[in-house]
Amino acid sequence: MTNDSNDQLKLQNPVTRYPSIAPPEQDQPEPGLDKNLIPQSDRGEHSYQGTGRLVGRRALITGADSGIGAAVAIAFAREGADIALSYLPAEEQDAQEIKSIVEESGQRAFLYPGDLTDAGYCERLVDEAAEQLGGLDALVNNAGRQISVEDIADLPDEQWVDTFNTNIHAIFRVTKAALKHMPAGSTIVNTTSIQAYKPSAHLLDYASTKAAINNFTKGLAQMLAPRGIRVNAVAPGPIWTPLQVSDGQPKDALPHFGKDTPLGRAGQPTECAPAFVFLTSPESSYVIGETLNVNGGMPSP
Ligand code: NAD
Ligand code: MG
Repeated sequence: MTNDSNDQLKLQNPVTRYPSIAPPEQDQPEPGLDKNLIPQSDRGEHSYQGTGRLVGRRALITGADSGIGAAVAIAFAREGADIALSYLPAEEQDAQEIKSIVEESGQRAFLYPGDLTDAGYCERLVDEAAEQLGGLDALVNNAGRQISVEDIADLPDEQWVDTFNTNIHAIFRVTKAALKHMPAGSTIVNTTSIQAYKPSAHLLDYASTKAAINNFTKGLAQMLAPRGIRVNAVAPGPIWTPLQVSDGQPKDALPHFGKDTPLGRAGQPTECAPAFVFLTSPESSYVIGETLNVNGGMPSP
């Protein structure tokens, strides 16, 4: 995607920084791949410029192969962090691409394919990442699944449970395991959603998990602040990622995706990354239990 984002220091109009896309109706099996997304998204590979805000940090990012997680991995690497990437085995190709970008940015990248609904994987992931990184001081709980279902009668019990396992139970397990490694000064950032406040009827299970993530974030933040570990969250609005085309939205909604925001367009994954960088950087030392909304201007609590 070419646009005026190549120089982040230039004055930019947020309305026109990216085009208002009208994606064609498309379908990918879950999990979708960035590689097959039409149009392609911007994860910051050609635009994100670091300013040394995370030098020497060691970060574990879940769902780091694509979309928002990939944009965070790229931004963190450009800011000087080494990265451990968690993703599903089916996403190997996307993950390899992000690994290359991290390494081209001069940082180390380690890959951990696995399923976060498996409690054993959650623990192994953290322990192996901490070992290979030489420690762990930044965690981004970003993985998630979103399957749209129009009627509660058609929402299978299996989907309800799997969405909770993926979106919130895994955050509990990964975080608990990570805290064994994290020294004072460490940070945790969870990806929640505007769905936590304004649930869409067709995302009953997903939106419920996002409200739980907000609540978990605020409780854990109070528990860990005295230890010098900060916990915060980022709540994206409509961001163009593979999640949306692998049944995250009704197909006929895709051409209008994000157009009802005050900016009139969907967000790109790289537009979320600075919020994660801010909450992970030591600069934000007095920001605790906060949720930063990155949603194109939709009013949120
Ligand atoms: P994405 O599909 O690129 O990323 C989601 C990632 O979650 C996948 O790449 C996959 O690696 C991971 N994942 C899913 N199930 C998993 C499992 N069982 N085990 C291991 N990993 C698993 O889509 P995205 O939109 O970038 O999503 C990232 C986060 O952002 C999610 O938590 C999502 O809920 C949240 N979010 C997205 C939007 C949006 O509009 N795209 C809005 C608000 C919040
Ligand atoms: Mg993916």
